[in-house]
Amino acid sequence: MAYPVFDNHVHLQRKGRFTDAVKEFGRKGGTGFMLVALPPDEGLLKDDFFLRMYEEGASIKKEAEEAAGIDVLLAIGPYPVTLLGLAGQLGIEQAEERMVRGVELAGEFVMEGKANAIGEVGRPHFPVSEELLAASNRIMEACFRQAKSVGCPVILHTEDPSPSSLAEIAGFADAGGMERGRVIKHHCTDLVNEDENSGIFPSVKATRELVFSAAKKGKRFVMETDYIDDPARPGAVLGIATVPKRTRELLGAGIFSEEDIWKVNYENPATLYGKEWFRKTA
Ligand SMILES: [Zn+2]
Repeated sequence: MAYPVFDNHVHLQRKGRFTDAVKEFGRKGGTGFMLVALPPDEGLLKDDFFLRMYEEGASIKKEAEEAAGIDVLLAIGPYPVTLLGLAGQLGIEQAEERMVRGVELAGEFVMEGKANAIGEVGRPHFPVSEELLAASNRIMEACFRQAKSVGCPVILHTEDPSPSSLAEIAGFADAGGMERGRVIKHHCTDLVNEDENSGIFPSVKATRELVFSAAKKGKRFVMETDYIDDPARPGAVLGIATVPKRTRELLGAGIFSEEDIWKVNYENPATLYGKEWFRKTA
């Protein structure tokens, strides 16, 4: 039985397992993943900080594709916590301006076909001052406006989701003219029903508990590991082979049919990001 396996949130680092991890993913049955670019370790205050981040993301995407012959998509955008580092050096106002320029540049990459989504963007996952939260929310709205104008989805990094926080975010999406269904909540739980997620699209963390619970409720979700490929923190997050494994388990337990697997691992991501980026999958 051949079926697709898509991981919606993967990081790769040259100092990590890098293409070895991609090869393992392919060997275990993975057919595609969303690569999420990481901010550079240095040069935060230099003008080309985001440009370097996105260009490095684009070259890693290419190397990953070549390593395993699978579909690798790319998400780029100013990482929410970067705002704090910038604000500490430049003040909130200038920091916000730089983040918004980073959002605009991400949109240009998407328009040129070099990236497929603006992400991971949003707001810090831990409590911050009211001023920083307000700035983060404005930056998030800038992401929605930019994504709307270039026609791509947004992958959100925020606090752990709840029906009320997703409803708030849905309001920001509406204000930016962005379709709620193209706003993807990274690190989501099993909030699969529309009355739980306000129409925001869930990318469910691929623990057995969350995925099984999500799958029993419906098929409107994708799965992700948030693999960080950090040699200093082995085992800190889910391994690269988790989504292939979870997919097999869903089938084995009879929770999903093969058709359901095609829906979650191919139709859902292809509808979000565009079928043309899934040439090797289907
Ligand atoms: Zn991430």
